[in-house]
Amino acid sequence: MPTQVLERPERKVRPTKAFVPDLVYFEPSSLDYPKGQRILEWVKEKNIEYHMTTSHNRITNLPGETDLEKYRIAKRTLVVGIRRTLKFDQSKPSAEYAIPISTGCMGHCHYCYLQTTLGAKPYVRVYVNTDDILLAAKDYIEERKPEITRFEAACTSDPVGLEHITGNLADLITFMANEEFGRLRFVTKYHHVEPLLNLKHGGNTRVRFSVNADYVIKNFEPNTSRFEERIEAAGKIAHAGYPLGFIIAPIIWHEGWEEGYGDLLKRLANTLPKDATKDLTFEMIQHRFTKTAKNLIEQRYPKSKLEMDIAKRETKWGKYGQYKYVYPKNQQQALREFITERIFEYFPESKIEYFT
Ligand code: SF4
Repeated sequence: MPTQVLERPERKVRPTKAFVPDLVYFEPSSLDYPKGQRILEWVKEKNIEYHMTTSHNRITNLPGETDLEKYRIAKRTLVVGIRRTLKFDQSKPSAEYAIPISTGCMGHCHYCYLQTTLGAKPYVRVYVNTDDILLAAKDYIEERKPEITRFEAACTSDPVGLEHITGNLADLITFMANEEFGRLRFVTKYHHVEPLLNLKHGGNTRVRFSVNADYVIKNFEPNTSRFEERIEAAGKIAHAGYPLGFIIAPIIWHEGWEEGYGDLLKRLANTLPKDATKDLTFEMIQHRFTKTAKNLIEQRYPKSKLEMDIAKRETKWGKYGQYKYVYPKNQQQALREFITERIFEYFPESKIEYFT
């Protein structure tokens, strides 16, 4: 009797879903804005549990028994509010200012610096008073012109992953399209770029995708879009005429790192549509942590393989008044040289903006 060869059906990889929170809080004044009202409608349509807060940025009854449980729930909780502080922080080296449209993120990247900067408030907070934020941006542009002023929209969040809820990036992009002396940039690990593809951007917004060696994405970036999804989205962004870039961050020294980062650049070159490689930029950021971050990461991701051995690192004074631990000079140099060479091997016309 002939043996029947059963073919294993090809496993379908599901697309990473856009974020839908489990719980939403509205600050009362957020509903005075059309955007707040629109988000409320969306929340009702999706049948998501929601509550009103009693005042500005005060969430007192977040569910969860332990700190870890509270943290996990907070990452799935959306707070809709007003941005009161319209003084923008600096955002070196990628831009002059951080433009605040959201804080917090639903991603679970173990190394994320929001672990510490957001402290006890790790929930996702979005701002609905976009016009006030844009007026403040306009003042910053006027103050510096004819110098160009660059605004980074992803300093405290991943706004692409929230765009289907807020439309905030669309507002910023279309505003910046008419600003001769203003530029917008943001970085993402999500592929949900559809709402941005048909906007008038005037070439004034650079969209960057965060990419990394396979080892880093697989071990440390849960709840973000897969590498292939990010690259496909990068192709769409380039087709839509946006300046495109990649941030390789955090660069992590691990066993087989040369192969890992070499393979990353090779895969980028093989999968990125050729017409997407014009005017391409790269930014490189080595992994760093503070003692506070190390403690929090160990509590929140106790099984993480993230190497944070202080004895293997060098110290560098950080802007938050704490030492950060970076790789020793020889390792930094090896990482920088190797990755730079691979970038220019595959993308000879690209520009490397910085390694930090
Ligand atoms: Fe942090 Fe970005 Fe990961 Fe979100 S996607 S957790 S902002 S590193």
